[in-house]
This record gives sequence, structure tokens and C-alpha cells, in this order.
Amino acid sequence: MLEMTTLEPSALLDNARHLLKTVYGYDNFRPLQEDIILSILDSRDTLVLMPTGGGKSVCFQIPALLKQGVCLVVSPLIALMRDQVEALKRNGIGAAAYNSSFSQSELRDVIRQCQSGEIKLLYVSPEKLLSVVPFLKEQLTISFIAIDEAHCISSWGHDFRPEYTQLHTIREVLPGIPVIALTATADKTTRRDICEQLKMKDPQIFISSFDRPNLSLTVRSGLSLKEKVSEIDRFLTARPNEPGIIYCLSRKNTEDMAAKLKAIGYPAACYHAGLESSTRNKVQDDFLNDRLQIVCATVAFGMGIDKSNVRWVIHSNLPKNIESYYQEIGRAGRDSYKADTVLYYSYGDVVMQTQFANDSSQKELNLAKLHRMQQFAEANICRRKILLTYFGEAVIQNCGNCDVCKNPRPMIDGTRLAQMALSAVSRMNEEAGGNMLINVLRGSSNQELIQKGYQNIKTYGVGRDVPYADWQQYMLQFLHLGILEVAYDQGSVLKITPLGKEVLFGKHPLQLSELVPISFEKKSTKKTKSTASSDVSGTDTPEEKLFQALRGLRLKLAQQDGIPPYMIFSDASLRSMAEHLPTNDEDMLAISGVGEKKMELYGNDFLEAIQSFITQRTGAPKKVQKGDTYKITLDLYTQGMEIEAIAVQREMSPTTIWSHIAYLAEQGEAIDLRKYVPRADEQRIRDAASAIGNTTALKPIFDHLNGEVEYHKIRLTLSLIKMEI
Ligand code: ADP
Ligand code: ZN
Repeated sequence: MLEMTTLEPSALLDNARHLLKTVYGYDNFRPLQEDIILSILDSRDTLVLMPTGGGKSVCFQIPALLKQGVCLVVSPLIALMRDQVEALKRNGIGAAAYNSSFSQSELRDVIRQCQSGEIKLLYVSPEKLLSVVPFLKEQLTISFIAIDEAHCISSWGHDFRPEYTQLHTIREVLPGIPVIALTATADKTTRRDICEQLKMKDPQIFISSFDRPNLSLTVRSGLSLKEKVSEIDRFLTARPNEPGIIYCLSRKNTEDMAAKLKAIGYPAACYHAGLESSTRNKVQDDFLNDRLQIVCATVAFGMGIDKSNVRWVIHSNLPKNIESYYQEIGRAGRDSYKADTVLYYSYGDVVMQTQFANDSSQKELNLAKLHRMQQFAEANICRRKILLTYFGEAVIQNCGNCDVCKNPRPMIDGTRLAQMALSAVSRMNEEAGGNMLINVLRGSSNQELIQKGYQNIKTYGVGRDVPYADWQQYMLQFLHLGILEVAYDQGSVLKITPLGKEVLFGKHPLQLSELVPISFEKKSTKKTKSTASSDVSGTDTPEEKLFQALRGLRLKLAQQDGIPPYMIFSDASLRSMAEHLPTNDEDMLAISGVGEKKMELYGNDFLEAIQSFITQRTGAPKKVQKGDTYKITLDLYTQGMEIEAIAVQREMSPTTIWSHIAYLAEQGEAIDLRKYVPRADEQRIRDAASAIGNTTALKPIFDHLNGEVEYHKIRLTLSLIKMEI
């Protein structure tokens, strides 16, 4: 094989771009991807910081394809490794995961495939790497080492893994082999730590923006549980079948939330550390494979899964800090298609999280971080600005995709409201908590209140015109603006701050943001739950209908192949198909995310679905039309050309042409399929199909016959069977 790295950078980039299009189906690199690829091709040690969904994989996979030898990829989770290998194969890239349970012959096989260049990426767990490298290096040329989730090496990071700390020894075992480390989370300390521990030599460091513009950000405060659930109901109604996660503070909360959603007809399950591991695995697996729409989980959920089409994330409670929040919402929209996030928080959450922080070992730090989280939630400026500023990026423009940008909240003069509250706190000798304060202001006859005699103070009932929930929201603002504070060490009673005293005595006016109920944008008016649906709807635009049909097809194909649906095509690719309606191979290949291998594996199924959707809609008879890809194949076929020759002429794979032939025969064109399938093979295929009980999926039949009968024969026989029905 040609040693690509001897080429000029511009030629290298041409090669890289070519692979991006043919293998992954993408037209353009994202910012920094090209520079990173060049750095690796230049054999430099390289550190990459990019947010989740930013596109890190391409950065090391393309150089792995271009460089001579095999690239070792270190990744912490076996399940993730398997997914990545499967996804690579679906793109036509040879990859394998090294497994300690390999038999001698399996190992030899993998080694041989690495030597021949069939396998370009070999995944290894950090535990295995050190023991296996001395052996591998005898047998193979190692191009470079990619270390995924590199922050795991640092005890400063949030996901420290002791196995990672040994990784530096590969530098001695494999001197001169470049290392590329990739991570989605690394502050300055962790960053330095990664470089030092991996003994990187003069590393090139690439830090991409941590912005995730496709994620909408919404914060809602002061809702009762009942209101929250009904709002979530409305939110879900507008997103039929779209997968998402609801994060809750406690195990109990996840169970309650899942039960409530199930009661109103949504497919939801809970996930937390207290469940049997088999139950947890099932929930995770069902979610990954689009069999389960909603998971109500504690924050542990989501770490080990690489599901790119999570369309929304809801936080039912306030997270403990901005890092966690950003990581958790980051699990939505990894395919870069738009996704929504909603954060609910309440006075109760603040109290609870503060107690957790107080009881933690790094109390001061955790309290400070919680405070920043609270400021974010309370803020009246673009939320994305706050987040990105927190992560050290300078942002000038408002994002236009957060609730503050969409519904700027007007300010009101809140001096009088504040004075009512402050005066009541003062008259209760700063001995009452937030709920008692609101009860007093609203003139409640709560038993505890009466016992304490608070009905006799002057401010009793002065705020009865303001609803309880509104008082709660104002209270959050009071805390946030620093006129009141909670004395957590004294049973969470409220104290007046020096600033609060100034406001109370009229020396300082107080601006509050007006409380405006924000209702979720309705994507549809239809009430479609998985159980019921009949009425007319706004989701039923033709485009949406086709998208849903393509999703259904994707699910079916995924089940046949035993892989998660997103591995076939991303939601973004399906949306683009529904919009652009490709009806031939060329147009299909122009869809972002459709590479050559995917085209070969699945292109026709999707083209057929789109074609039949178009004919149904236009009412045109279902026949092969001029200019259509099938028509072109048919014309060449009728001219007497062989299948291989048609494939060459059309610059398509023979597999594609075979599937055209099958389709044409099914449509009633005069094609004798038996010409291509010997009787004996046809019988074997028929037997296999009935043994498996499946007459649509190719792969199970192919496997059942130990790969002895070619795919095209199976495909044609299945058409024969279909035509008999
Ligand atoms: P990360 O590992 O950084 O979380 P991935 O490598 O999984 O992200 O990439 C996220 C998504 O973006 C994937 O669906 C990937 O195929 C897609 N992607 C990567 N690079 C590009 C690109 N240049 N153009 C379009 N999509 C891309
Ligand atoms: Zn904004």
C-alpha cells in the first residue's frame, strides 16, 4: 500500500475529503477536523478536545485508513467498543475489538486481517493493551494509538479510571509511535495532566468550541409535580415516538415519574443503580434499539451508551453543577439534528442539593458550583452565553435557541413584593423557612403557623393575591439576587442579607423578572401516544409522514440485522431523505450520511420506500418511470447486458443492480429470475427461509446457509416467494 504521508498536505486533504464523502457520506469537514487529521498524518502527538457529538471519531478513523498499518484504539467500555466496531463495519471499514476470550484461531485470523490491511482499526481495552502490545508489535505495523475518553487518565477529571494511568508505559514499549488523545471534557488542569501522563512530545492541541447549537435550552421553575407532569405530557405529545431521557434526583423519583407517564399511556421505564443488572441491561438495550421511548433515570444512565438519536433530555430536578448538566443534556442530539432540553427546578431542589453539597467532602467547592448552576437557571440573559462563558469561551451573539432568547422576560419593579417578604421574615425573627414564609404572606391557616402565632404578625396575609407557585418563583429570585439567604446549618431558615436590609428600608429598589408562563412550541397538535391515535393532526405533513415511514423501515432493517437503528442511518439523514425525496442512486448518495457501503446495504430499501410514497401520493400508477434508476437498469437489461456489465456502466455495485432486477421482476417486468438461481440453491434458500420463519431478511438466511449461497441468489429467491403470495 502507498505510504500516504509522503504526499503533500493538499493531496492528503484531497484523500481525506474523498474518504469523508465515500465512506461516511459527508460533504464537508467540521471545523478543526481537517487540522487534526493533518496533525496525525504528520505523526504528531495530538490532543483533541471536542464536545460530545462534535465528530471526534472521524478525526482518527480517516488517518487510520490513510496510514500504513493498523491503528490501536483504546476505549474504556466494552459495550461502546463493540458498537463502534459495528458502526465502522456498516461503513465498510475493517475493524475489530481485541477480546481476551479470543481462541487461538480467532486471534490468528484478526492478526492476518490486520497484516493484509483488511482491518485498519483494532480496539483494545486499557486493561488489555499493555499485555497485548508486545505481542502485536512483533506481528504488525502499528500506525498510531488513539486514546478515546482520555480524561479518564486524570484524577482531576470526573471519570477517573485507574486502568488508564498505566497507559504511559506504551510510550516505552512503542517508542516513536504517535499518540492521539481525545476527550469531550477537560478543563485546563485535566488537559495538562493528559499530556504529561501520556508523555506527549510537543503535542498539537486542538480545542473546538463546546457549543452545541442544535440543542435548545429551556428552564422552567416553580411548577408543582402535577403541573410538571402535565407539561411533560404536552411536551411528549408534540414529539410522538421521539426517544428521550428524564433525569431525576433519586431512585424513587425515577420510579414515580415512569409510573406517572405509563399511567397516561407513554412507553416509559425507570433506570437506577438499585435495579437488578439484568433489568438495567434490558432497559438500556430496549432504549438503544428504539423499542423503548422514554427512560426515567438517575444520572448514571447514559454513560455507557452511544445512542445518537436521543431527541430530548429533561431534567426533572436541578443538577448539582453546570458540568453535569452540560454532559447530561449533551446526550441529546449527537447526530447534530435538532434536539430539545428542558430543566425544571424548584425551591425544594435548591434546598436538597445544598444539603448534599454541605454533606460532601469538598463542601465549599460544591456549594460554589451549585450556586453557579442556580444562577444559570435563574438568569435573564441568553443561557448558551452563560454556559459557554462558564467553559471559557467568549460569546458575543445571543443564541436564539434558548427560552430567554425566544421569550425575553420583561423586568418589573419588585420592591414592594420583596419588602412584604423581608418584613415577614424579620417579624418571624428569621426563624422560619421558605414554605412557612409563603404561608404567612398568603394568610394560610396552616396548623404549625397557628401554633407559632404567626397569624398575629402585621404582614400576615398581605400577599394573598399572589398565587403560591408565583411566590415560590419570586423566592428563587430573592435568593438568587441575594436579598435573602438560607441558613442550612439552622434547619434551612431564611435570613436577611445586608442587601436585603437596604431593600427592606427602601434604600435600594429591586428589579424582578416578570413571571411569564412559557408553553412549549407545538410541533403538532396531534395526540399520538403509542397506544391511541385517530384524530386529524398537524404532524401529518407529507414530509413528516414519510419520515415516520422511513423510521419504521429503519427499525425493521435494524431488527433484521440485530443492530441499533441509528447505525443504519441517522435521524438527520432520514429527515434529509424525506425532504429531498431521492429516487435514484446518485441523489441518494448526495444525502448527508449516505456513504457507498450504506448505499449498497440499505440504499435500495429506502429508495423503494420513497418511490412508493411518491406514487401513492401522486396517485400515479405504480410503474417504473422514465429517468428512474430502475428504468435505466431495465433498459440496459433489455438490451441484453449482463448484470456485472450494467454495474460497471452505471458505476454502481452489482448488489445494487441485483436488487433493481429483483424489484423490476416484482413489478411485473418480464425478467426470468430463475435464470440466475440454480434449482438446488433455490430449494436451499426456501428451506432456510422457512426454517427461520423469515422471508424478508437476507442476512439470517445467508448465515443459516453458512455463507455458502450468494446474497443475490437469496434476494432473487425471496422475490420469487413474494410473487407467489
Ligand atoms: P463524538 O465522538 O465527538 O461524540 P461522533 O464522532 O460520534 O462524535 O460524531 C457525531 C455525529 O456527527 C456522528 O453521527 C458523525 O457521523 C457525525 N459527523 C462527524 N463528522 C461529520 C461531518 N464532517 N459532517 C457531518 N456529520 C459529521
Ligand atoms: Zn440564547
